[in-house]
Amino acid sequence: MEKTKYYIGIDLGGTFVKGGIVDENGNLIVSDKVPTEAKSGNDKVVSNIAGLCMLLLEKAKITKEQVQGIGMGVPGLIDSQNGIVKYSNNLHFEHFDIAGALQAKTGLPVKIANDANVAALGETKFGCGKEYDNTVLLTLGTGVGGGVVIGGKLFEGNGSAGAELGHNVIAAGGEPCGCGRKGCLEAYASATALIRDTKRAMEANRDSAMWEIGSIDNVTGKTAFDYMEKDKAAKSVVDNYIEKLGVGIVNHANTFRPQAVILGGGVCAEGDRLVKPLQEMLNEEIYAGARGPQVKLLTATLKNDAGIFGAVALIAGI
Ligand SMILES: [Zn+2]
Repeated sequence: MEKTKYYIGIDLGGTFVKGGIVDENGNLIVSDKVPTEAKSGNDKVVSNIAGLCMLLLEKAKITKEQVQGIGMGVPGLIDSQNGIVKYSNNLHFEHFDIAGALQAKTGLPVKIANDANVAALGETKFGCGKEYDNTVLLTLGTGVGGGVVIGGKLFEGNGSAGAELGHNVIAAGGEPCGCGRKGCLEAYASATALIRDTKRAMEANRDSAMWEIGSIDNVTGKTAFDYMEKDKAAKSVVDNYIEKLGVGIVNHANTFRPQAVILGGGVCAEGDRLVKPLQEMLNEEIYAGARGPQVKLLTATLKNDAGIFGAVALIAGI
């Protein structure tokens, strides 16, 4: 009988390295995490990743020989072809051959790609996008990240520097963005932007019911949604958020015409309050409307494991 094949998926973050072992049938067998310790230097980070791989093997009770390789999502500008991190500000890497270093330490083949792109691949191959091979993932977090899968393959652009989906200007001359431009989707649709706009609305409306939360410091990405039914200021924050996010979604849908746009990030917990108006906007505003192929709006299902599954898809070449 042939032995089962296994893959290790690593999601390298600024604070933690998360990892898991997935079998050839797509089952996550074990997962765990260890501190990244980015400040201790490149060698220490690679040692920590290799240590996590060994820990996972032990937990899964399988040998290294049964593992086909390691896939890894890394934040920053990644040359996925050559396995090199060109630049990663939160990991303090510059022109670092991380794939080569990890391969040398573990004796296993290693493939890397940008973490947001890897998450898009994971959600498409193993999550809510499983039925599709043309998808766009938008993650609404501190910023707006994402990835594009075309014909079942990750679209990365020249030098794997593409798919910066959050830095599409949706309001020329608008809110300043961390990238240096003004009016990017990220400057309106990130959780950070939602919190900023909620605080502004509270300050401009001293009688808003949102003040029940006590202090402006208690505002989260949920506040405006929580009060939208009974408070006009909250409702207008939500309406504006959805409108701006919708513009970004329709733009990406027009460019890539995916079968599905997948939303990730904490804001997705709002469910239908977020998805329903956005799906309506997408149906109405997409080029050629009902005459063209429809685009489904979905919310991500793998949550924190999307990076692990995507990394596995990367190394498994699926
Ligand atoms: Zn930007």
